[in-house]
Amino acid sequence: MKCPACVELGYLSKLYMDSGSFTTLMGWSSYYDEDGIYHSHDPNRHSTGGRCSQDHQIYWSSYSKCPAGDYERDEVVRVSYRCEVCKSFGKESPDAETCSYCESKARDAERKAKADTENATQAEYRALPGWERRRTGGFTKWLEKRNSD
Ligand SMILES: [Zn+2]
Ligand SMILES: [Zn+2]
Ligand SMILES: [Zn+2]
Repeated sequence: MKCPACVELGYLSKLYMDSGSFTTLMGWSSYYDEDGIYHSHDPNRHSTGGRCSQDHQIYWSSYSKCPAGDYERDEVVRVSYRCEVCKSFGKESPDAETCSYCESKARDAERKAKADTENATQAEYRALPGWERRRTGGFTKWLEKRNSD
């Protein structure tokens, strides 16, 4: 097993698997079929994780295969990348700038900054003497003129 992210990126890395793993606890019965062949169709998912030396977080889940070879479920390997902003392993792709949490935080901050600017502009307009406000012909006209200056 190699770190899938490093394989894709062409990096060499060591992959350190977590010592703990998690297995779901569903019951099932093994059986011998009509030809006397042994089957074991284990529905339980085994999950574990790891960290590679290039700083990727790996989540890996797999299922036991039936010795008769008719029960095989896909292994799922998911990789997370470290977010440069919050330093957590929240990034889904190496191309993303930040994790989705930091992305939404940045969006909120941008929205707030925009609202603050708008409020400040409106306060500026309201602070004008009445004659000047009448002369400019309303907030929108005033704002257009102010932005073109
Ligand atoms: Zn890696
Ligand atoms: Zn089977
Ligand atoms: Zn983040």
